Amino acid sequence: MRVVLTLAFFALAEPLAAQTYAIHAGALIDPARGTVERDQTLVVAAGHIKSIGPHPEIPAGATQIDLSREWLMPGLMDAHTHLTLTEVVGGSAPFESFYILESTAYRALRGLHNAVGVLAAGFTTVRDVGNAADYAMDDVRRAIDAGWYLGPTIITSGKIIAPFGGQSHGIPPEQGTFWRYEYFDADSADEMRKAVRANLYHGAGVIKLVLDNNRYHYSVDEIRVAVEEAHHAGVPVSVHVYGGEAADNAIEAGVDSIEHGFFLTDAQLKRLRDKGIVLVSTDFPRAHLDIIGTSGGILPPPEVLAPKIIDRLRRAHRLGVHLVFGSDTVMDVEGRSRADLMFDYLAVWREAGVPPAEVLRAMTTEAAKLLRIESERGRIAVGLAADLVAIPADPLADTENLRRIDFVMKDGHIVRPGPTIVRP
Ligand SMILES: [Zn+2]
Repeated sequence: MRVVLTLAFFALAEPLAAQTYAIHAGALIDPARGTVERDQTLVVAAGHIKSIGPHPEIPAGATQIDLSREWLMPGLMDAHTHLTLTEVVGGSAPFESFYILESTAYRALRGLHNAVGVLAAGFTTVRDVGNAADYAMDDVRRAIDAGWYLGPTIITSGKIIAPFGGQSHGIPPEQGTFWRYEYFDADSADEMRKAVRANLYHGAGVIKLVLDNNRYHYSVDEIRVAVEEAHHAGVPVSVHVYGGEAADNAIEAGVDSIEHGFFLTDAQLKRLRDKGIVLVSTDFPRAHLDIIGTSGGILPPPEVLAPKIIDRLRRAHRLGVHLVFGSDTVMDVEGRSRADLMFDYLAVWREAGVPPAEVLRAMTTEAAKLLRIESERGRIAVGLAADLVAIPADPLADTENLRRIDFVMKDGHIVRPGPTIVRP
């Protein structure tokens, strides 16, 4: 009998109790080593991987899942999302529109919609780095943690911390400082410490700073305050920076990751590598740049920026910088899901010459280390959470195959059943 399990809309009347499964995988990918083992069986119970092998002992009553024609690998991670955000695009409205026109409640609903959607596509963990209104994403995380919805593991940053002005430009003085709906203005060591603590209070799992949005930027000492305060709480610091002196200061201060870094020089990339600082490269494909534009004139036009982004990723990879996948998708396109748009970034990695095995690592094991969850997620290993995806074609041959993920398991719950015959 063919029984297909599916959870419509992933909204749960009752929190699910994870069942016991025996998953038969035709090919099991280990992204850390870029290797494949054939015909392996995983036993999953209570949300975790209990055993792996060609013939492990299968507990009585386990549900059998047949993925013998599929490639099984750890769930994907995106270290740079903004799931509550959609920029008003097409040059029709200023950057600030999304936080003037939309309430925190509405933003939380969009965040939940996108979180559920990206999980179904295979992203079992996301790090959401701000632009989430007044802590909207923290409430999405709580709703998922409470078991009301099946969603990805979400690591939030709370509000973005920046020198005066957030990421806005040219707001008339009589409008006040309304950007503080989405940003902290922190302009001294004390204000920095307070902003970090407020985010930690609301549940931040990463502290996000914006460094080069204006003619002024943070000193090494100011960034060090954030690093010290965040690290004391066991939380990494990620910084939005394109390059120049602001990037030098971040590297010197010992942040954990640089986000974007489009204009980093080889010398800066080498310092990143030597200090173990991760580049979350957010490699916008040309078609996305054409839609979102130049970020208020801060970035060069798409025809100039797109090749720079590819070149920067190629240089970073050649120099051996630690790379983690982060998309920074901030828009909606009719007929395409948020996850579709996230997968578009893989084309840039391909163009920059990063081999598929390394891309998979940047989306799993390397991401888990940056997110400080490597003891729980990011690998298929006994004792780790059962965050799994399967694909009917080999992603080590072509990362485009990741778009075809048809089986998703999150913490031992089936999100998408795949082409499988599930026998009770
Ligand atoms: Zn971003």
